[in-house]
Amino acid sequence: MRKLMTMFTVKKWVLLGLVILPAVMLFLTGWKKPSLGDIGKVVNQAKTVKKLIKSFEDISPEQEYYIGRAVGATVAGQYKVYKNKKATMYVNTLGQTLAQASDRPETFGGYHFLILDSDEINAFAAPGGLVFITRGMLRCTENEDALAAVLAHEIGHVQHQHGLQSIKKSRFSSMAADVALDAVQSRTGGAASVLTGVFQDSIHDVTTTMITNGYSRKFEKEADNAAVAILKRVGYDPNGLIDMLNVMKERLNPKGNDFAKTHPSPSDRIKDVKKKIGKYVEVEKSAARQARFETALKDI
Ligand SMILES: [Zn+2]
Repeated sequence: MRKLMTMFTVKKWVLLGLVILPAVMLFLTGWKKPSLGDIGKVVNQAKTVKKLIKSFEDISPEQEYYIGRAVGATVAGQYKVYKNKKATMYVNTLGQTLAQASDRPETFGGYHFLILDSDEINAFAAPGGLVFITRGMLRCTENEDALAAVLAHEIGHVQHQHGLQSIKKSRFSSMAADVALDAVQSRTGGAASVLTGVFQDSIHDVTTTMITNGYSRKFEKEADNAAVAILKRVGYDPNGLIDMLNVMKERLNPKGNDFAKTHPSPSDRIKDVKKKIGKYVEVEKSAARQARFETALKDI
């Protein structure tokens, strides 16, 4: 009983120290003197945040944005960003149009599309809507429908928050404590609310899954299904996804460091996508659309 009491007291003090000490320290440093009422509010706010983060669903859109930005920075550090204004603008216009037709048209920081200067056949989506596509993947596309299919698949990953779902469950308790601390700091005018620092392990989980391990087959199917829905809504031929998968089947190196490593085999995906598309009456392709595609990506 006594041991139990002691443990309870220790736990209570650790908790109190975690939440109150940073507030008191900032108060004592006098950077911006908050009133006692302010500290009370801060402690309440911190407790609320601490209570809230139990799973990826509790991560706020703003926190998702910061995680995605850090993941994006890691990707941009591993690959070179391709500097071609015309091609980047074209991919962005197309990507924005598709994102607006998704089930998640708005995110905290909006959708952004970047081309990576790499021969690898690859594409990634960081949480919050930062989408990357390599020059190698762009070279696999023969028309706008096929490119739209790749971008729509990545938007599907953003829509379903697959990136955030790759964060290990064990991270959430420490993340909650860190965010509580962060809330105290930002509320008392101390350190800026730098969420990327406190989410370091989570960022590592997302980046590793995205670039090295890949998502589960279930998640890939969800992204493919979202892609088919988006393509149909915008008026692109959903068979563009099948065309892309066929190209990938021929060109991907099964042992390569690319889409083959992080995605199920194209043949398996083709079967599922065909089922999802169902009956589709092919529309005549516009010559203007093809000309626009070829002009924008002629140097790729
Ligand atoms: Zn995918």
